[in-house]
Amino acid sequence: MKPYTSLKSILAEFFPLHRTLASDDQDKTLEIVGSYMPDTSNYTIENYKPLDPAWTWKVPERYVVHEAYLEILGGERVVDFKDNPLHIVSYSPPVDKVLAFEELQPHLYFNEKRPHAVPWMFKYYDRDWGFCMSKNAFDKLPRDGKFHAVIKSEFVTDPMRGFKLATAVIHPQGGPTPEAGEMIVQAHTCHPMQANDDGAGVVSTIELARRLAENPLPPGSMGVRFWFGPETIGTIVYLSHNENLIPSLRGGIFMEMTGNRNKIAWHHSRQRDHLLDRIAKYVVKNVQHEERSFADYPPNDERVMNGPGVNVPTISINRWPYDEYHTTDDNLDIIHDEMLSDAAAVAERVVRIFASNYVPKRTFRGPVFLSGNGLWVDWQENFALNRAIEKIMMRFEGEHSVFDIADQVGLDYWMVREYVEKFRAKGFVIPLPIPSEAQAA
Ligand SMILES: [Zn+2]
Repeated sequence: MKPYTSLKSILAEFFPLHRTLASDDQDKTLEIVGSYMPDTSNYTIENYKPLDPAWTWKVPERYVVHEAYLEILGGERVVDFKDNPLHIVSYSPPVDKVLAFEELQPHLYFNEKRPHAVPWMFKYYDRDWGFCMSKNAFDKLPRDGKFHAVIKSEFVTDPMRGFKLATAVIHPQGGPTPEAGEMIVQAHTCHPMQANDDGAGVVSTIELARRLAENPLPPGSMGVRFWFGPETIGTIVYLSHNENLIPSLRGGIFMEMTGNRNKIAWHHSRQRDHLLDRIAKYVVKNVQHEERSFADYPPNDERVMNGPGVNVPTISINRWPYDEYHTTDDNLDIIHDEMLSDAAAVAERVVRIFASNYVPKRTFRGPVFLSGNGLWVDWQENFALNRAIEKIMMRFEGEHSVFDIADQVGLDYWMVREYVEKFRAKGFVIPLPIPSEAQAA
């Protein structure tokens, strides 16, 4: 695990690369991400064979661009892929044509609102070629000129140079607890040369992994799985090839756009009022934030994770909106270290509660003899907990999780958990895992 000076410095290392669904620079990005992940997390890059079925989709081919540019015939070069990968529409098929302006125009993209910036466009499945440029550059193109459009690209299906994504798992103190299941944290890695969407979410996720490795979750907690790969299709490929994993996933967080200066926003799970939603609400209650519905803009991989036939409750954390979105203005200038780490801290608090939570089920009959078992709480030491003892003890019927009990008695989760753990240590309650809501088909 490499040391780093700041999260922004990690982002700067992979920011300029030509990341897309599958590309050599996507491989490099996954390597860089792995170099900063904790050694104990068993970070693994997986390779999938292009064109293999993935539920109703197919594993994408690798996209290779040898050269791409647009020139005014007999004049200057208007845009060059070498200068910025955003200059071509992602997954443009090859082209080598001389065209009049009218023929070229349907293949040109610019952003009216940000005339100096180059927009990012992708046509992964339409396979139509195109160039992206600033509105200012577009306005200067001679309307009576001829243009030479060149894209030397290839769609590679070699199974050894396939479609890649990466996973890692951080176990709680004392090792894995398979019966507790896992939580999954995702960030996507497919946006070429853009910083906030999606590099920022990636480095906030790395920070979360490092915090959980340095200060592991209590024994018996869920494992936390980390996932990096291309948006939507990456999660579809992963889950369709690892269906046996789905029932063990108890909840998820998707993170992106965490580096710009804006308040935290969180999106509910599809379940809307799941335990995970209630925990997220609890965590952000003293932080300036915005709350949104499931799949509200900007929707991401939670649509797959929490979608049909999977249904793992998944929330999303971001700092949307920001004006530089999907343009060359989404660069390191708009990224702030404290925003990146504050977002990681919010996710960390959600993970720590959700993954360490369980449902206590009593083994005792009658009120427990507290002082005889070292369970008495002196009112002079903790008045609030002293007043709540009976209420807590009445809620060990296997219906309420520790978080819900804390919420119902109006006390801090960690205080109540520490107290319930004392009952557990005495064998007075057994911990039932948080149930899975995942669908098996
Ligand atoms: Zn995006």
